[in-house]
Amino acid sequence: MDIQEQLWQKCVGFHGHECGGLLIGFRAALYAMELLDLGYSADEEVTCIAENDACGVDAIQVILGCSVGKGNLLFKLRGKQAFNFYDRKTGKSIRLLLRETGPMEKEEKCRYLKEQPAEKLFEIKTPAQEFPEKARIFRSVRCDCCKEVTSENMIRLQDGKQVCLDCFSPYSRFL
Ligand SMILES: [Zn+2]
Ligand SMILES: [Zn+2]
Repeated sequence: MDIQEQLWQKCVGFHGHECGGLLIGFRAALYAMELLDLGYSADEEVTCIAENDACGVDAIQVILGCSVGKGNLLFKLRGKQAFNFYDRKTGKSIRLLLRETGPMEKEEKCRYLKEQPAEKLFEIKTPAQEFPEKARIFRSVRCDCCKEVTSENMIRLQDGKQVCLDCFSPYSRFL
């Protein structure tokens, strides 16, 4: 098994099944690695902003080490098959947008996603976002209402009390 196939099997193991969506993320992660000269991100040096939360994101977690827990996998949900990659070491970034494929049978599409050269699969664009801020660590604050502890950035003021988002009733008349 070559290294690419090994990586693919790792992704399938993590995701639970083989599918076209996973292939999109797999190809995007490998292409980003090649273009930005990235390695597996043990800390936060590589950050991904995914524009969807579908199957492909799992391959990016496995291959690039961008994960929700480390704070270097962020979502800007637009329902687009697009992924933004940022490398803090070099300051380089890239946005990969899947090109339209036209109608295809499921199997045909999987083969297509697996075998097409990366430049035919993805359009290379510039991310709309600047480098995302590194994950911050916030103070813990106790909610005056339910008494549970939450991080400071999740606290709102209500009737002069500090409340968590579960206890807060939003009020907005701004249109
Ligand atoms: Zn899937
Ligand atoms: Zn509360």
